[in-house]
Amino acid sequence: METKRLLIDDLARKEQALREAAELIRQGEVVAFPTETVYGLGANALDSSACAKIFEIKGRPADNPLIVHVASVPEAKKLVKDWPPEAEICARQFWPGPLTIVLPKADCIPDIISGGLDTVAIRMPSHPLALELIAKAECPIAAPSANISGKPSPTEGEHVWQDFCGKIPLLIDAGKCKVGLESTVLDLSGKTPLILRPGGVTWEQLAAVLGKVELDPAVEGGFLISDSLQPKAPGMKYRHYAPQGEIVLISGHKEQRIAQFISRLNNKKASERMALLCFEETAVALREAAGGVSQPAIAKADLVFLLGSRKNMAEAASRLFKGLRLCDQHKIGIILAEAMEEKGIGRAFMNRLKKAAGYKKDRL
Ligand code: AMP
Ligand code: MG
Repeated sequence: METKRLLIDDLARKEQALREAAELIRQGEVVAFPTETVYGLGANALDSSACAKIFEIKGRPADNPLIVHVASVPEAKKLVKDWPPEAEICARQFWPGPLTIVLPKADCIPDIISGGLDTVAIRMPSHPLALELIAKAECPIAAPSANISGKPSPTEGEHVWQDFCGKIPLLIDAGKCKVGLESTVLDLSGKTPLILRPGGVTWEQLAAVLGKVELDPAVEGGFLISDSLQPKAPGMKYRHYAPQGEIVLISGHKEQRIAQFISRLNNKKASERMALLCFEETAVALREAAGGVSQPAIAKADLVFLLGSRKNMAEAASRLFKGLRLCDQHKIGIILAEAMEEKGIGRAFMNRLKKAAGYKKDRL
């Protein structure tokens, strides 16, 4: 199949791309489009065979349900059995935006979307192209992240191109995604709102408007070590967001982090390809540090990817997946990745990093 890549760099192109994409979706095809979180691989959510193509193209396990994207709150209400007050509060406060809510599903939702569950996950994205596409297609759009299952999510059109060129008819390429991490998944089908996946909307923001909000204990880690702790969002149980190389998390206070980086770099074997995913402040400190005779330790790294300043957690979050993908391109075997504090967007950043590391005890 030939994949058309429509770059959105002016208004005329935008209209044409949206018209073509909406038409393909109506015909039961799958197209890739940008959202503010990551790129999505979208199909008509009310068409089972169109949705089946998403699973096939991505290599996504059938028990991992899809998020349904809508362009308005009334549209969301049609997809669920009940619209509780918490859903109304969340929609008013955080939609359009990076928050997905899980509610008991209406009969119109095909089983393939919900992976056998009796709930459905819904989101209204804020990216204008995503909103316009849903409106033009005149149907809700089921769209998981547009990456081959298991790989880091795509935050640029180029990432989608790398994974799906020749496998989908159309990619709408609008450059970089602003948030760069997937949406927060919030389960509102139980007694207490429960975060199934941390993401673009933080726990703190949700608690401020909903009061008590819990975090699925499986999310914080350990479920790959203990079978008894299974996450409620099926997708969270898979090793995910992962580059080919092994990730070593570098945590602790500043001096500890610097010492770990230096020790790992100085003990690097000649045959090993090593990358650093670190903050600018750390890179500066490493450049100043002497490793071996007079060479700074950082010069021993085969790739240094800067996450931005430690003061700007949102920027680091938006750059993480790009960094992980770059490691694959540079055939990196060991990735030394700098940790950040698990609060605000840092919770989602660390969740992705730990999952990419495989949640192995000895790597945490
Ligand atoms: P992705 O579309 O790749 O960003 O992944 C969507 C995430 O939402 C996965 O972790 C899914 O398992 C989760 N999810 C989707 N639908 C539901 C649902 N009905 N209940 C719980 N989790 C869900
Ligand atoms: Mg995904």
